[in-house]
Parts: sequence; C-alpha cells; structure tokens
Amino acid sequence: MKKQRKVAIIGAGITGLTTAFYLRKNGIDVTLYEKSEHIGGVIKTIKEDGFLYETGPNSGTISQPEVAELFDDLKNDCRLETANPAAANRLIWKNGKWHSLPSGIGKGITTPLFSPKDKLRILGEPFRKKGTNPNESLADLVKRRMGKSFLDYAIDPFILGIYAGDPSYIVPKYALPKLYQLEQNYGSFIGGAIKKKKEPKSEADKKATREIFSVEGGLEELVKALIKHIGKENIITQCGALEINPLKDTYRLTGIGFDEIYDNVISTVSANELPLLFPFINKNSLKPVTKLLYAKVTEVSIGFKKWNGISLNAFGGLIPFKENMDILGVLFMSTLFKNRAPGNGALLTTFVGGMRKPHLADLSEKEIFPVIEKEISRTMGLKTFNPDLFRTRQYRRAIAQYGADSGERLNAISAIEEKYPGIQLAGSIRDGIGMADRIKQGKKIAENIINAKA
Ligand SMILES: Cc1cc2nc3c(=O)[nH]c(=O)nc-3n(C[C@H](O)[C@H](O)[C@H](O)COP(=O)(O)OP(=O)(O)OC[C@H]3O[C@@H](n4cnc5c(N)ncnc54)[C@H](O)[C@@H]3O)c2cc1C
Repeated sequence: MKKQRKVAIIGAGITGLTTAFYLRKNGIDVTLYEKSEHIGGVIKTIKEDGFLYETGPNSGTISQPEVAELFDDLKNDCRLETANPAAANRLIWKNGKWHSLPSGIGKGITTPLFSPKDKLRILGEPFRKKGTNPNESLADLVKRRMGKSFLDYAIDPFILGIYAGDPSYIVPKYALPKLYQLEQNYGSFIGGAIKKKKEPKSEADKKATREIFSVEGGLEELVKALIKHIGKENIITQCGALEINPLKDTYRLTGIGFDEIYDNVISTVSANELPLLFPFINKNSLKPVTKLLYAKVTEVSIGFKKWNGISLNAFGGLIPFKENMDILGVLFMSTLFKNRAPGNGALLTTFVGGMRKPHLADLSEKEIFPVIEKEISRTMGLKTFNPDLFRTRQYRRAIAQYGADSGERLNAISAIEEKYPGIQLAGSIRDGIGMADRIKQGKKIAENIINAKA
C-alpha cells in the first residue's frame, strides 16, 4: 500500500491556509504550525461599538482567477462582497485639494494632476522605445515613458497605497510583472492595455475581474471558512520555536512538544524567520533571501458615529510623497463595504510610515493621535477631530519590497528548493504581496504536491 503523504505548513496566514485547504480537499494529511495565538496572519477583523474594521488588509483585488475559485469553493461558508461602484473613483491630493485620478486618456488630458508637458508625453507613450534593463526602477521606467508629473501624481501614490514603498527602489519586473510585460510584449503601456483587452481570454482568465473584494462581515470570515474545512485539529497555534532538519527522503520537525516526520515542509513566514526554522541551510545561501526589505507601517482605524466631513463617495485618497504629509492615504471603508459604521457615521482607515517615513510607524498610539488629527482634519474637511473609535496596529514587517536584488533572491530560493526536495520557501518573499497573489501561490503549491503524489 502507498504511504500517505504528510505535509507541514509553517504559518497560518492566507497563504498557509489556502495551501492547507486545497491539500485537505484532496485528502492529504496536513498540519499547520502557527507561532501566534491568532489564525489568519495579518488578516484580522474587529467588531467594536457599531464599527467593523480590519487591522490588516482592508480589501483585495480579484486580479487572479484563483481568488474567484476560492470563494466559489467556499460559497456555503462565506460570502464575497464586492466594493460599492464608487470605488472606481480614486482621489489624489495635490496642492491642498483632492482630484480624481483620471481613468482614461480624455480625462488624463484635462486633469490638473499632470503637467502640460507630460500630457503631451503621454500622447506619445505608445511610440516610445521599450526599455532594455530588467532591473530598471519603477521611477525610471515611468519617467522614461510618461514623465515626472505622472510619476509623482499617479504612480508614486499608487505604490504608496500598495507597497508603502518608494518607486525608485521598486523594480516592476518583480513587483508589477503585468505592467512590465505590457512594455516588454507590446512596446507600450497604453497600446498594450488596449491590445490585451481585445485578445481572447481563457475561461480561467475570465474569472479575474479586477473588482475590489472583501467578505460580508469582514475578511476574517474567509479565514473562519478556511479553518472549518481544514479542521481546527490540524492547526497548532502558539507552536513555539520550530526547527526543521533533513532525514533521508523526509524532514524532521521538532519543537517543544513536537517531533514529527514530514514529506513536505512549506514555509510561508517572513524572510527573517528562515535561518532559525531551517538551521541546516547554509547561511550564505539564505542571505539573498534574509536581506529582503520590508516597509514598516502603522494602520489606523478611525470611526465617527456622525460624519461631518467631505463627501466620501470614492475608494479613498492617496497622498503623493511630494506633498510632504504624514499619512500615506485614507480608505473610505464605510463607502466601500456594508455595515462598517453606524447609520450616518463613517469608518476611515489611514496608514503612516512606509519606506520613506519609517520613523512615524514607531510612534505610540498616543503620539500618533495629533499627527492623524492634523492630517485627517485637513484632508477630510473636519473642523473638530473627535472620533468615536481610534485604534492603531503597528507592523514592523508589513510589506516586502521587491527591488533590484529580487532576481538574486528568487535564484537563491530555487537553488535551496532544488537541493532539498520537499522544502518550499513561499509566502510574500516571492510571487507578489497582495492577498490575490497569496491565494494564487497557495493553490499552486497545493496542486504541485497533489500532482506529484498522483
Ligand atoms: C497592514 C497591512 C495592510 C495590507 N493591506 C492589503 C490590502 O488592502 N490588500 C491586499 O491584497 N493585501 C494587503 N496586504 C498584504 C496582505 O495582507 C498579505 O500579503 C497577506 O495577507 C500575507 O499572507 P501570508 O499568509 O503570506 O503571511 P502572514 O499573514 O504574515 O502569515 C504568516 C504567518 O506565519 C506566522 N509565523 C511567522 N513566523 C513563524 C514561525 N517561525 N513559526 C510558525 N509561524 C510563524 C505568523 O505569525 C503569521 O501568522 C496588507 C498587509 C499589511 C501588513
């Protein structure tokens, strides 16, 4: 009789949970090991005093078919909620005012966000030569194709919103592969986007809609649905320090109270955790992975039972670094999703810190209050700042930054995985940082193990 394959997954965030869900669905024996007492990783939803807020990710994009497939697989246990159509309106702060980010060429020509010179440059974008340096930074790529004001007032705030990052560090080949491929495959962002829209799509690709999603009742409902299918008995929380070491064709996982043998060990943890977890991997081979940079951020949830500020009929607003303010942007959560704030109230989420103002992410809740008071009052049109809810959550390693050393990191991961078959170094150290990327990666890892078993 064929031996039953045993898999250990380290980390019970969305990556580990998705992997475990698909493995369990195919009858594979899985154990998830989680360091903290909370299951879901950075995903956490809190209900408090009439507000429902997230302390980690707030919404995702259905940018990968695997997201739609996962919600379909879990449809009896949690309900996908797509954002209010107002989410199509994204605001950018410039010279003391919000402006809508233009969604097409027509609006791009009339917006005050870009300089007249760059508007002409944008018209010429389809005719510009494509880049040849795979490690070109996002800032250089955008300046070359679209101009400096487009970088400052469209791409810079977009990168702050996703990566809390710096476009002069981020490398599109790794961080924004779809954008990079548009230039490489079609020679232009604008021409490429138009051509791509006309191309026939596979059934799977049709499921990627780019809609903004959450879950009815908050993102933690997705986590609860995954736990239900994986089985709580297969998830060990507060597991303490673990060590994995190779045997002949298997791996031995030890910790306080554990001594288990596994065929596969999948890590989904951040880069800094790897040396202790895998002491047998040569430190120099791991170095390109462990030196991965992360942006520090503090997330602030602010609730008002009665809203007296500007109209919140948009996704939210982003603040370009050039505007020299102390928040990265504001999400209008009570506009995006249902039941986030009482009746006439509002729930806003703002972020501070990031790669270019990390010191702000070190401030305590008390210290950050006046910073938020100043910036939110100014941008949200509030005469007085008396929120009914004010909660902060600090992250020292919030978002991995895919820079020019990413090629070296990915090669190091491949070399380790090749040398030690059965070990997978996953999570946001590769393949993207958004929830959609994490779900895609988790499903793919599970499928590879299932197919290898067959
Ligand atoms: C503040 C914030 C806002 C974000 N906003 C968005 C957003 O709006 N949209 C979006 O798509 N994405 C967003 N992201 C990114 C997205 O949330 C993450 O990429 C994703 O949730 C990460 O999932 P993960 O499972 O890979 O990692 P994690 O959620 O970090 O899970 C890893 C787990 O491993 C555990 N662990 C670590 N070390 C060990 C160890 N040695 N042993 C055992 N367990 C260990 C950790 O405790 C953790 O639970 C945001 C991230 C942050 C931090």
